[in-house]
Order: sequence, then C-alpha cells, then structure tokens
Amino acid sequence: MTSVKEHLLRNEEDIQRILSIVLSKTTAELYASGDYELSTSEERLLEDLVSKRSKGYPFAYIAKTQGFYEHEFIVSEDVLIPRPETELLIEIVKAKFTDKNNFKVLDMGTGSGIIAISLKSIFKDWSITATDISEKALNIARQNIEKILSSKGIDLYLSDWFNELSHQKYNLIISNPPYIAEGDKHLKDLEYEPISALTSGKDGMDSINNIINNAPKFLEKGGFLLLEHGYDQANAVRDLLEKDFHNIKNYQDLSGNDRATIAQIKIF
Ligand code: GLN
Repeated sequence: MTSVKEHLLRNEEDIQRILSIVLSKTTAELYASGDYELSTSEERLLEDLVSKRSKGYPFAYIAKTQGFYEHEFIVSEDVLIPRPETELLIEIVKAKFTDKNNFKVLDMGTGSGIIAISLKSIFKDWSITATDISEKALNIARQNIEKILSSKGIDLYLSDWFNELSHQKYNLIISNPPYIAEGDKHLKDLEYEPISALTSGKDGMDSINNIINNAPKFLEKGGFLLLEHGYDQANAVRDLLEKDFHNIKNYQDLSGNDRATIAQIKIF
C-alpha cells in the first residue's frame, strides 16, 4: 500500500487534484493526512484516472464539474466542456440588455446549460428557453438547472435547431453552436468531447447557416441574434446576416480572436 505522501511525490499529471477526488478530501486535508495508506480500490481508481489524464482525457470529465461565469456546472462526456471564450456571450448580453425587463430568450444547443442558466441567474425576470438535439445533454442541463436555479425557470426542448419549436417569438436568440470544420486538425485535441457539439459540415458553417436563415421567423420585431463562431468565420457570418439583419457587430475574445457576432433583425 502506498501513502498519500508517496503519491504526492510521484509528480504525475494532476496527481494532487486527482487524489482529492479519489479520497474526497480537500487539498488541505490531503496534506494533513500524508500518512494515510490508500486501499486497494482507491489505488486502482487513482491509477486508472492518472492513466486517462496521461492520454489527454480532460480533467473536467474526471472532476465531473467545470466553472463557467459565476457557477460550477456538472459536466459529463455527453456535453462540451464549457470554455472561457463563451463567457464573452454573457458579457455582451449584460452590456447591451441590462435595462430590459421580461426579455424572452432562446438558447440553442445549450449543452450543459451554461448560457441559459448564467443568464437566468443574472436576469431573474427573463423567460428563457433552451434546446439541444441530445437527450443526454438535456439531462445534464436539467441537473444544472436543479443545482444552480433550484429547478426554476428554464423551458427545455429536445430539438434539432428550430425543428421542434412552435412559432413562439423571442427578443434574443443566442447560441454557441458547433462551428469547427469536419477534419480540422484541431479536433485531435478534442477527441473525448461529443463530436456533434464541435463540427458542422465541411467549413463548420452548417449550423450557423441554419440558425441565421431560420432565426427571423422566431424573432420579435427588432429582436437580436447573438452567435459564437470560429476565429476565421466573422466575415462569413456577417455575409449571411446581411440579408435579414442590420446593426451587425463583431466582438473579440480575450485572446484577441473574432469570437462572437450580434445583429438586429431588420424591420421591413
Ligand atoms: N470553442 C471550441 C473550441 O474550439 C469549439 C466549440 C464550438 O464548436 N462551439 O475548442
């Protein structure tokens, strides 16, 4: 049997964070119990998790949790791991719509629910609907709604983009859709995440195309569409938007990459 201290000295990837999970101890408790000898099953679990990490398995899936904006979200292999870039969408909404009451918002492809839940926890009187094509993802979103919002206030729909939505209209449609091109070399670093949350057609634009083309039917007069997109897609997104939208504005993420675009529906 090996002690906590001996494991900590092994200097393996994330060993301290993984030990914390295996033994359900905080970092301080770990160091205070350096002499504790791991049981055979604890040792086996530790080796398994260390080996997964060494193959690039994301820590968030081991911890089953990931921070986003102001909350800790439950995650599993059924959902994309929340990215810091996506916090930009929340910042844009806060900057532009703080004074809006009873706004109706649709979050498409919600995954773990990070956008819908973050917005609902800031704007308590907004009515928020969220969709996903994956029942398993919606289950995770449901767990997060229960954990963070005590089950209150978000309508969830199993839907392939707009397909299952009745013709309700929204003031704001928001989405972080899949936008990576099929076959992109970047995907090899993302092999443990659901491919349907990452790629969308040969140029990564299929979902964005679908959302931009259909959004006008679902937007209130003067409503807005806010999309996250790839660093090299801002111009293509703008071109698609120009048919039905105006007041198009692009935003950069903290790395200085084009990452989000907002536009307002034209009033005919
Ligand atoms: N931003 C993610 C990445 O490049 C992709 C997420 C997405 O396609 N929406 O890692």
